[in-house]
Formats: sequence, C-alpha cells, structure tokens
Amino acid sequence: MNISNLVKGEISQKDLLNYYNATIIYEELPNSIQGLVFKYDSIFFILIDKNLSYYKKRKTILHELAHIELCQLEQYDKDLFALKVNKYEDEADEYIKFILNEIG
Ligand SMILES: [Zn+2]
Repeated sequence: MNISNLVKGEISQKDLLNYYNATIIYEELPNSIQGLVFKYDSIFFILIDKNLSYYKKRKTILHELAHIELCQLEQYDKDLFALKVNKYEDEADEYIKFILNEIG
C-alpha cells in the first residue's frame, strides 16, 4: 500500500493513513507554512494549514505522506521534521511528481 495506490484511487486516504499510523490535523499554521509532519509515540502527525484550498490541501497531504513513505523522518532523526531541509523537500516533491507522471 502506497501513495501511488491512493493517487490511482485504488485505496482511500483513510486507508493509507491507517497503514502508516498517521493522522491529519487541520490548523492555522504560522509563517505561511502549508504543512509539516512529525513523529511522536510512533504516530505520524500531519499538520495542514486549514486555510488552504481543497486542492492545495490534497497536494500538501501527498507531499507530507511522501516524507513518511520515503522514510525521511527516520533519516533525519528529529522529532520535528524541519521544513528547511531542502534535500528532503526536493525528494518529496520529485517523488509525487514521479507518481503523477507514472499515472499520466
Ligand atoms: Zn516537506
């Protein structure tokens, strides 16, 4: 089960969140942050800016899920996944781009 299945509509967002032990929280986020993800007590918390449009929310959720799927949080080994780590940001975006292209 992965993001590719979700984008193809083979599974629901809820299915994938359950699979990764992840939960989404919609909040007002500071400094024009659209989303972020961190792990606490073996649960992934995905924070999404509640003021984003529907499509921007979807896109941001996919991006944050990519961080989980690529195991970047384990690599980074910090409670809070810093948005400033450009290497991971690019990797996550490239990964989503790859999946979307694959589905074409
Ligand atoms: Zn990110």
